[in-house]
Amino acid sequence: MQIEEVQSQRDYVEYCKTVHSYSPAVNKLLDLSASYVSDAEKAYQEGRKKAIWSNGYGWEVPLIYACDTIPVAFGEMGRLSDKEVMLIAEDYYQFPVETCSMVKCTVGQWHLRRNTSTIKRILGNGSGCEPFNLAWEIMEREGYDVYSNDVVYRGPTVEGKRLEELVKFFVEEIYDVVEWLTGSRKLDEDKLKVEIQRKNRLLNKLRTVLELRRQHPFYVRSLATILMLNVGLNNYFGKPEEYEAAIDLLIEELQNTPVNAADLKNVIPLVWAGGTGQEFGIYEAIDQAGGALLGLRSVPFKQYREDIPPVESLARWLYDNAGAGAGVYARNVLEHEVDKLNARGLILYGYIGCSFASVDREMWRKYFHEKGIPSINLEGSFQTGAPSGQVLTRIKAFVEMLA
Ligand code: SF4
Repeated sequence: MQIEEVQSQRDYVEYCKTVHSYSPAVNKLLDLSASYVSDAEKAYQEGRKKAIWSNGYGWEVPLIYACDTIPVAFGEMGRLSDKEVMLIAEDYYQFPVETCSMVKCTVGQWHLRRNTSTIKRILGNGSGCEPFNLAWEIMEREGYDVYSNDVVYRGPTVEGKRLEELVKFFVEEIYDVVEWLTGSRKLDEDKLKVEIQRKNRLLNKLRTVLELRRQHPFYVRSLATILMLNVGLNNYFGKPEEYEAAIDLLIEELQNTPVNAADLKNVIPLVWAGGTGQEFGIYEAIDQAGGALLGLRSVPFKQYREDIPPVESLARWLYDNAGAGAGVYARNVLEHEVDKLNARGLILYGYIGCSFASVDREMWRKYFHEKGIPSINLEGSFQTGAPSGQVLTRIKAFVEMLA
């Protein structure tokens, strides 16, 4: 497939496979991404697997897998949407137009699935954003079985006894989720241990991939990078063993590829801060202008503790990641990435209608601007469709300016 033939995000994935024709590993990762939702729904409908909709990242992923269930990230369903699907949320459910398009797309997709035989259970998360809290409430009224845990939050001075109380509280919440998932509070802790070990192992392997990419900056292009890390590393596209095998293969490919001195000379290292941009043309614009996304905000990744009981490990991991002032911590990670990679610029990406992320981006833009590190602040939508020519022109101009 050629770039001129691309009409949708699915086409972009196909096109990206053509671009990576030299790499069976990247092709496998792209296939896993493209088939994630449909394969999970099929396995569920055929009775081969249990599956639920969930955020698909964080503490719940090892837990859900340990309960023999596939966590299907609802955000991945939203990205298959178009404007018509998004309008269902506005017209039928009366979501205000300015609501984040990620939420509206997901609501539209759940609406279309209401009277079908697909997955009808949603694990929400009270700490998610308000529009999603509303979406889950509405879906419950529409007949979905929705479970949402309480809000978890660790204030800046919470340590010692207070922190221990929070951990105890969340351990109980985890057992509540197990009960909702399986009908019993009994959890196979050995299985959870295996899942925690898998997560830590994969975090290490992806660190290796990122290190190797510094010598091979163009081997995995931007879209594949984002899907492999922002989505795959979180939930393994519903197929943990296959995802890990693809990562192992990628490491092998990168280790066996000779370093290209011209690539190292010409590359414009960039750090990506934000969600998974759904308008895939953005990645094409970065690639065409000679940029390479070598750093992401989610790096370095936090390991789960293996020296304590596995449920406690999930709870402690959560409170280590759900602290107040997260925007400042994330900025520190960004700065670390920029320094380590000698990055020439930052791409700050978020969705239209997400007020809290836009505050973070503005804060980072100002901070890095004062430090003399250029950045571009982009807002995109979640539904399928080519990005506007204006966005592409801005990205190309930004990356070319850094050259
Ligand atoms: S982008 Fe912001 S508003 Fe949209 S779902 Fe995510 S957190 Fe919520």
